[in-house]
Amino acid sequence: MANIQAIRGMHDVLPEQTPLWQYAEHTIRDVLASYGYSEIRLPIVEKTELFKRSIGEVTDIVEKEMDTFDDRNGDSLTLRPEGTAGCLRACLEHGLLHNQVHRLWYYGPMYRHERPQKGRYRQFFQFGVETYGMASPDVDAELLLLTDRLWKRLGIRSKVRLQLNSLGTIAERLLYREALVTYFQQHIAVLDEDSLRRLTSNPLRILDTKNPAMKDIVANAPELMDYLGEESRAHFHAILDTLQALGVAYEINSRLVRGLDYYSKTVFEWVTDELGSQGTICAGGRYDGLIEQLGGKANHAVGFAMGMERLLLLLETIDVKLEASVHVYVIRVGEQAQTIGLRLAEQLRSDMPSLKVQIDCAGGSIKSQFKKADKSGAAYALILGDDEVARGEIGVKSLRDATQAQHNLPLNEITTFLKTLNLL
Ligand code: ATP
Ligand code: MG
Repeated sequence: MANIQAIRGMHDVLPEQTPLWQYAEHTIRDVLASYGYSEIRLPIVEKTELFKRSIGEVTDIVEKEMDTFDDRNGDSLTLRPEGTAGCLRACLEHGLLHNQVHRLWYYGPMYRHERPQKGRYRQFFQFGVETYGMASPDVDAELLLLTDRLWKRLGIRSKVRLQLNSLGTIAERLLYREALVTYFQQHIAVLDEDSLRRLTSNPLRILDTKNPAMKDIVANAPELMDYLGEESRAHFHAILDTLQALGVAYEINSRLVRGLDYYSKTVFEWVTDELGSQGTICAGGRYDGLIEQLGGKANHAVGFAMGMERLLLLLETIDVKLEASVHVYVIRVGEQAQTIGLRLAEQLRSDMPSLKVQIDCAGGSIKSQFKKADKSGAAYALILGDDEVARGEIGVKSLRDATQAQHNLPLNEITTFLKTLNLL
């Protein structure tokens, strides 16, 4: 019988890949902490209705990407396709939005039943960031400064570009929508099947098309920017001014509409040219209207979500210096060395809590243990053979510098010696 395999589009992250994931996760958490953001932990499954109400019925996600099922009670549940809806649901449910300001983040798997390809999976991980209660364009700008700082910390700033647009208010968007429909109706022969459907359901989404044959007609469509009122315009320009004053480069992309219904005013994407058509690493914007839409009092919200797999693909294109997973590897040969070696490894972990000590538990010849030591990535092997044990010593051998011969030390001097080595 064939072995059972993982579900297509859902990936295992193997031990050789986890150090890069941990490095990225750690760096992101650090940067978020440096702006005073707090973590919130949310369920992976929510009532289907929540996503329909928040993301919008005529979006790619709700129309064709949600993993929805009936549970044993007959309730329709959905594996979360994104985190904004659940985060807002939780904050409303626990009264966190009443006269309060919040800066939150969450991290975890999201699920979308799309055709799997590079950078697009059925299960993928997102860091999500949501802020509530702040109307000022300073918050929109803060999210952009924060992400800009993150790319710099990760060493990928030169590989990503910031694209910005403003979607205005709902009323402004309605005016624009009319102009857009009139325009596309004049070019109806050129519209593809998706766009024809969207013409009545969600015409702004036509601008988001990935079909090259539609490029020209989209390029000449009316611009949303021309339909913005004074307040929306001022909000947008305040963000641009801040970015300019703080030296963050940006591009205005008047075709950027985002796939979700709930955005208003600011929308943005950090994009890269290195991952083909899966080029958006991080995307977000302002969604003031959503809180009311979910039954809360009118309020303000801005946020973004970052796709970890795409970020990882980008990190794989640069040389990241990762922390060693093992610093020293303890080799034991002979009966007497067994307990002495275990005691030594425990002692080292007490003396130097950050030191990563691996002890050989499979035994075998000294040669085979050295091979495993080398493979572990450790910088040094510590050797307890018959001779060392008889003399109360321990052997030290560099695994990275072949010119350094093994030398022996009294057993009780090993911690002092390791502390001189700059291993941590
Ligand atoms: P796309 O246009 O590429 O489908 P989207 O607009 O659907 O993206 P969002 O809902 O804004 O994406 O999600 C935010 C981020 O999450 C994306 O920019 C991307 O990095 C990541 N992401 C979205 N869908 C997937 C997926 N199926 N697999 C991997 N990452 C994804
Ligand atoms: Mg999508």
